[in-house]
Amino acid sequence: MLKSVIVLVRTLGTSKPNLILSQTRFASQALPQLSATKYNVRRKDFGVVQSEDVNYFKSILSEEQVLTEESDVLPFNIDWIKNCRGQTKVVLKPKSTQQVSQILAYCNERRLAVCPQGGNTGLVGGSVPVFDEIVLSLGSMNKIISLDETSGALVCEAGCILETLDNYVRDRNLIMPLDLGAKGSCHIGGNVSTNAGGLRLLRYGNLHGSVMGLEAVKADGTIVDCLRTLKKDNTGYHLKHLFIGSEGTLGLVTKVAVHCPVLPKAQTLGFFGVKDFDSVLRLYRSAKASLGEILSAFEMADNYSIQSTSKNLNLPNPIADFPFYVLVETHGSDETHDSEKLNRFLEREMGSGLILDGTVASEPAKMQTIWNLRESIAGAGLLEGYVYKYDVSIPVGHYYDLVPKLRERMKGVTTKVYGYGHIGDGNIHINVTVPKYSKQATALLEPYIFEEVAKLKGSISAEHGVGFRKPQFVHYSKDPAALDLMRDLKRLMDPNGILNPYKVLPDP
Ligand SMILES: Cc1cc2nc3c(=O)[nH]c(=O)nc-3n(C[C@H](O)[C@H](O)[C@H](O)COP(=O)(O)OP(=O)(O)OC[C@H]3O[C@@H](n4cnc5c(N)ncnc54)[C@H](O)[C@@H]3O)c2cc1C
Repeated sequence: MLKSVIVLVRTLGTSKPNLILSQTRFASQALPQLSATKYNVRRKDFGVVQSEDVNYFKSILSEEQVLTEESDVLPFNIDWIKNCRGQTKVVLKPKSTQQVSQILAYCNERRLAVCPQGGNTGLVGGSVPVFDEIVLSLGSMNKIISLDETSGALVCEAGCILETLDNYVRDRNLIMPLDLGAKGSCHIGGNVSTNAGGLRLLRYGNLHGSVMGLEAVKADGTIVDCLRTLKKDNTGYHLKHLFIGSEGTLGLVTKVAVHCPVLPKAQTLGFFGVKDFDSVLRLYRSAKASLGEILSAFEMADNYSIQSTSKNLNLPNPIADFPFYVLVETHGSDETHDSEKLNRFLEREMGSGLILDGTVASEPAKMQTIWNLRESIAGAGLLEGYVYKYDVSIPVGHYYDLVPKLRERMKGVTTKVYGYGHIGDGNIHINVTVPKYSKQATALLEPYIFEEVAKLKGSISAEHGVGFRKPQFVHYSKDPAALDLMRDLKRLMDPNGILNPYKVLPDP
C-alpha cells in the first residue's frame, strides 16, 4: 500500500494522466466495497445498457473511445480516496462537443444514466458511478483553443489538465487563477463543475469570478454556447453560473473561457511555527495589514498534519516541531521589495513572540519544497488507513474549534483528527484517519460534524462539493425553499434525471 500511494502523490505533481495514477493504485490494493452496498442505495429506474447501445456508441465514436473491458473500466469506477466504487460497464471518451451532444441525446432518449468524469480527483464520490451509469470521461477533449495575452482570456476544452494549462500560460507571462494539490490530474472542466477553490483564492477569487464563459451540453444533447471572453455581459440571466459548481448534475461542461492573471515577477514564501491557534489568527491579521496587496496565500496546518506528512512521505520540514504552522505567500512585482517586506514581517513577529521560528524563501526549489509539504497533506493520511475528509467553512474566529471537539468525541476509537486549510477563506480541511472504514466511526462523525458546522453558521462544503457523500446533509447549509429551487432547476434542465443521479440533491 505504501508504495502505491507514494506513486500517486508524485503523479499528482507531474501532469501524468489520471488513468495511470488509478491503475498503479488499484493493481496492488484491495477493491473498495461497492457504494450501493456500503451506503444502502437503491437503483433508480433507468435503462440498462444493451449490446445495441454499445453498437450505437461505436457507430458515432471510434473503437478506442468506447471501453467495455472490465480491467479498462475499473479505474473509472473508483474514486481517488478509495471510498466509492461504482459498477459501470461502459466508459465513453468523446473527442468533441458534437460527440458529447450525440451521446447525451441518445442516453436521454433511452433513459440511460450518465456520470461525467474529469480527472477523478474529487473527494466526495461525485465523479464515479454508483450503479451502472455510463461514464463520460472528458480526458480526450484537451485542446487549448486560444489565449489572448492582453486580456488574459484563455479558451480551452474541458479535459485540459490544470497543470498543463498553468505551464502553457506561464510561458506567456500569465498564471491560472487557481492552484490545488491535485493540479497534475484534475481537469479545468472538473474544476469548474466543482467550483474548485484552492490555495490562492484569497488573492485571485473563485471561479464564479474568473470563468468568463463556457460551453455546456444539456441532458437532451442541446449545446448551450455561453463561451464569451468578456468581463462584462449583462444580457439577462448569468447562465454560466448554473454550471459552475453543479457537479455534472445540470449539464456537461465542454469548453471554458477563463481569465488568467499576470505571472507575478516576484514570489516569496514564508513558513512559520507558532504556539497556538490564537497566534495563527493574530498572525493573519498582521499579515493582511503589513503585506496587504502582495499577500497571495495564508495557509495553516496543525502539528499532526505536518509531522505525519513529513514522516509518511519522507518530505523535509524546514523548521522544528511546533503546535501550528503557517504558510504565507506573496505575489508581487519586485523581489527585493517583497522579500524585504516578508522578512520585516518575520522579524517583527518573531520579536513580538507570535512567530517562534520561521524561514523565508524566494528560490523556486526551496519554495517548492515547502509547498510540497503543504500540498501533500491531503494524500499522506491515506498511508495510515482510511481517511474521513471534511472540508467546511466556518467563521474564522471558530475556525479550529471542531478539531479538539472531535478528538474528544472520538476517544476510544483509534483515530487521528487533524486540521489544515485556507485560513484566508475560512475553509478548514478536517481529516479523521482510522485504520479501516468503520460504521462506528462514521456514526460518531456524521451528522455530528455537520450539526456543529450549522450551529456556527458555516457551510458543510467549502470546496469539494456535495457529490454522492453529502446530499443527505445538504439541508444543514440550504434552507427548504433553496432546496426546492435546486430541484426545480434540475427538473427543468434534466427532466429524466439522467445526469449524475444519486449526487448533490437529496431524495425528497
Ligand atoms: C490531493 C488533492 C488536493 C485537492 N485540493 C483541493 C483544493 O485545494 N481545493 C478544491 O476545491 N479541491 C481540491 N481537491 C478536490 C478536487 O481536486 C477538485 O474538486 C477538482 O476540481 C476536481 O476536478 P476533476 O477534474 O478531478 O473532477 P472529477 O473528480 O472527475 O469530478 C468532480 C465532479 O465534477 C463533475 N465533472 C467533472 N468534469 C465535468 C465536466 N466536464 N462537466 C460536468 N461535470 C463534470 C463530476 O461528475 C463530479 O461530480 C483536491 C483533491 C486532491 C486529490
